[in-house]
Amino acid sequence: MIPEGPAQKALLSGLPSVDEVLKSPDGRQWISQFQRKIVLLAVRDVIAERRAALLSGKTAELSLESLTGDIRQRISKLSSFSLQPLINATGIVIHTNLGRAVLSDKVLKNVVEASGSYSNLEYDVASGKRGQRHTHTKRLLREITGAEDALIVNNNAAAVFLSLNTVAMGGEVIVSRGELVEIGGSFRVPDVMAASGAVLREVGTTNKTHLRDYEDSINENTALILKVHQSNYRITGFTESVEIEDLVSLGRKHEIPVMFDLGSGCLIDLRPYGIHDEPSVSQIVETGADIISFSGDKLLGGPQGGIILGKKRYIEKIQKNPLARAVRIDKLAIAAFEATLMEYMDTENAKREIPVLAMLLQAPGEMETRAKKIASALRRKVGEKDIRVIRDSSKAGGGSLPEVEFPTYAVAIKPSGISVNELESRLRNSSPPVIARIREDSLLLDVRTVREREIDGIVRAVVASLSAG
Ligand SMILES: *Cc1c(COP(=O)(O)O)cnc(C)c1O
Repeated sequence: MIPEGPAQKALLSGLPSVDEVLKSPDGRQWISQFQRKIVLLAVRDVIAERRAALLSGKTAELSLESLTGDIRQRISKLSSFSLQPLINATGIVIHTNLGRAVLSDKVLKNVVEASGSYSNLEYDVASGKRGQRHTHTKRLLREITGAEDALIVNNNAAAVFLSLNTVAMGGEVIVSRGELVEIGGSFRVPDVMAASGAVLREVGTTNKTHLRDYEDSINENTALILKVHQSNYRITGFTESVEIEDLVSLGRKHEIPVMFDLGSGCLIDLRPYGIHDEPSVSQIVETGADIISFSGDKLLGGPQGGIILGKKRYIEKIQKNPLARAVRIDKLAIAAFEATLMEYMDTENAKREIPVLAMLLQAPGEMETRAKKIASALRRKVGEKDIRVIRDSSKAGGGSLPEVEFPTYAVAIKPSGISVNELESRLRNSSPPVIARIREDSLLLDVRTVREREIDGIVRAVVASLSAG
């Protein structure tokens, strides 16, 4: 820092003090409108920046009026939330970085009602005795999946961890080498296993594992046979893995429980949609697997959570594990789950009402109409730019259905004055941000994940981004 000489002192004396700003008409107005602390921070920051500029020899506008605009901007930045809604124009429905499943207004209404007042979260109103938070979702899960018993914890990582810790701590867990997966965000099967206190017993090879590999490694320390959904990757070509049915028979023969970490876990039958490699949860329950776990916010389309289904004797043990408390589900999520699961009481209804399913299964014609609507609004507003509606394909995301290509429609924009990367960046920095895909020299707005009410926001952001200097 340069010492303040007389010349600098003279310069700085032109800068209004914090107090002067706060007492000005604008200052008073801000204080009545925003939190005092935020206004104070904004005023101090902007004055400090001007001061630093002056001291480093730069010229800076010093008048109160020149400060006001900057302070106003700073206040609005400081008082806006960090977690904010954005428009997902990537077409990826279960986008982990963008918050996975979107909840319906109906589900959110239940969250607001159940958490905006006291509730019977752990209270049995009829008897006046203490109740269980799990009762609110147990019946629905049993009804929908056919499982004997059910439990929801904080997420599927916790579901796997808690299950292993309960049934296999100190014992060996047999897993195929082809299923030792890592899922984004550092969930790795071997690491979760080690943390749970179970010993991993790898069998088979990367591409081929046979039933006899499992059988040969069973010994007096074997506590569990675990099958893991390969989630976001596939081994193709010369491969073989063992079906859950065969593992269940093997487990029965040796009196060893069998668990299946399903990852995404779809509650509806996707076969009518040509998707054959993702059996529904109830089909897995029918195989007799003892423990089944999956996420709440992937294909199920609910809030974050880890669902554990299975035989009563195991679920009860898992529920009683002291660590269950550390990974328990909160009441907001229970309210969202109950409302989401209720939609599944009628499958056709679920496909319409649950945003994840509605987005994945929507008719191509609907998407084409939406894309055309956006494209023509854009052409009207920006003139002769290269804006077209194209057919494309998108993925489900979130490690779900990695091999399924969903046909989709997108608005493709080839900008002329700016690069496609610049356009993508401007859209990301719009308010609300618009997240798009880039392919070659075009920006793609995939409408699969764009809702009707977001169209105006997209059009406004693109128009502003294309016409900015
Ligand atoms: C996604 C996934 C998980 C982790 O689930 P979260 O709900 O994100 O904790 C675990 N196992 C598999 C196979 C998965 O696909």
